[in-house]
Amino acid sequence: MRLRSALHAAALLAGLLSHPMMARPVMAQVSQPTAGTSLKKGEIRLTYLGNAGWEITDGTKVVLVDPFLTQFARWAPGKQSDGPAQTDLYLPDTALINAHVTKADYILITHGHPDHALDAGVISNKTGAIIVGHETAANLARAYDVPDAKLITVIGGEDYDFDDFSLRVIPNIHSALDDKHYYNNTRGITGNAPRGLKAPLRRKDYVEGGNLAYLLRMGGHEVLIMGSMNYIEREMVGLRPDIALVGSNSQRLEVFEFTGRLMKALGNPAVVIPTHADAYGDPKPTTAALADRKKFQQEVATASPKSRFISPTWFTPIVIPARQ
Ligand SMILES: [Zn+2]
Repeated sequence: MRLRSALHAAALLAGLLSHPMMARPVMAQVSQPTAGTSLKKGEIRLTYLGNAGWEITDGTKVVLVDPFLTQFARWAPGKQSDGPAQTDLYLPDTALINAHVTKADYILITHGHPDHALDAGVISNKTGAIIVGHETAANLARAYDVPDAKLITVIGGEDYDFDDFSLRVIPNIHSALDDKHYYNNTRGITGNAPRGLKAPLRRKDYVEGGNLAYLLRMGGHEVLIMGSMNYIEREMVGLRPDIALVGSNSQRLEVFEFTGRLMKALGNPAVVIPTHADAYGDPKPTTAALADRKKFQQEVATASPKSRFISPTWFTPIVIPARQ
């Protein structure tokens, strides 16, 4: 969730980015390769969709995480780069969605803020994908007439088997926005979305609704998925993902030894990939944001020197070989 006050905008801009982004014409991108193409047994492919958004596939099933293609529309000429005001309508950009999403079997939602949940309903209707998330994520999707057959609501603690993959749902907490005054920030972005909402929705409808992380076991890999710059340490201790998508913009700096504690809890994952750190699609991130990106990489190198750090580029697939 982006910050709207000038005070916090400065803090946000200081650390939105933690990986290099190519200033490329997003609309010119062709659709990603469809699942099933050119993956060997044991390989897994992760494609960064911007913000906390991912496409993850083993060549059989396609799992999306927090798809928010609409973020790229903000940076078009004449658009407001921080998105609509709280009381204004906030609509998924179907052209961007159609350009970048062709197939999806499941959509994992970490929380209901628009930079995580805005596009899910439209994508489910387009692809038939099943949305997994809190009741708030479900209610936001129901506003787009997504039927209950396509919704799996969870509360955290579940560990579900889906035949081709399994999914552990991890209780989590949101980034400590507003200088740690997140729960009393008066911006109306916490709490739950009610049933009965009808699209088009306003930005203020996209409240958090609780927070989740996920452990996706697929193709012999275990992928830790975060959508916020925070975690509950005891929920992470003992997990052994070989790939960790770590929420890592500068909001992590509000948290005591964020990177070190996480790497230790997870047993130093073989691959660490920053997420939610692309300056919300800004093709020209600030100097401070770029510096923070380097800082996070250094934190990982210090805490977990054997981890391979991969800076994702929008829509460029990352193929991880079979787990040793
Ligand atoms: Zn959020």
